[in-house]
Amino acid sequence: MQIEKLLAKFGLTAVRYGDGTGGKGLLSLDEQLAAVGITWHQSNAGFLLLIAQCNNDKRALNDLMHLVYQMAAQLFADHWRGFCPKQAVTALCVTAVAIALHEQGRQCDACHGTGKVKRYRKQVKCQNCVDGYIPWDKYSIYSAFNEQLPITFDAFESYRPYVDTLVEWIANERTTAFLAMEERMQLEIAEARLVA
Ligand SMILES: [Zn+2]
Repeated sequence: MQIEKLLAKFGLTAVRYGDGTGGKGLLSLDEQLAAVGITWHQSNAGFLLLIAQCNNDKRALNDLMHLVYQMAAQLFADHWRGFCPKQAVTALCVTAVAIALHEQGRQCDACHGTGKVKRYRKQVKCQNCVDGYIPWDKYSIYSAFNEQLPITFDAFESYRPYVDTLVEWIANERTTAFLAMEERMQLEIAEARLVA
């Protein structure tokens, strides 16, 4: 089943916030999930990514960024020797989330993601991309990072493993969130059969 349909089925189309009374602004994702029978506390990042990805939800993206930042800060505290500037951690998080969100790569500006450009009134293959996207490799990842924080390629190379780890973590969370919804879905189908 498509992710969009699954999300819509469980009403997880956006991160909902309360009216702000009593200072409890955010109806937590845990509560939203519990309301539809999914109880699970580890997959928040995965659900936020799915919501951000499918519904272009800015709040989900913000919340996801917050979780990824916590994860990155932990990684640096555990593994990085010396001082790591906050801007670098932020740039890493923005880059990792961009990769996780747009798995195919960055959309090509020359052909606007179509993979084709007009030349002498003919449609020809765009020379700047692969089918409208610039796939992620060490150079395009560096370029994305560099937009956030300009540093040399050599300096970036020591940060790159952290990008990989963060992307992997987000992707795992995404898979787990998807499976949790699918499992719940199968359960509902089985229940419906029992009633029928
Ligand atoms: Zn192109």
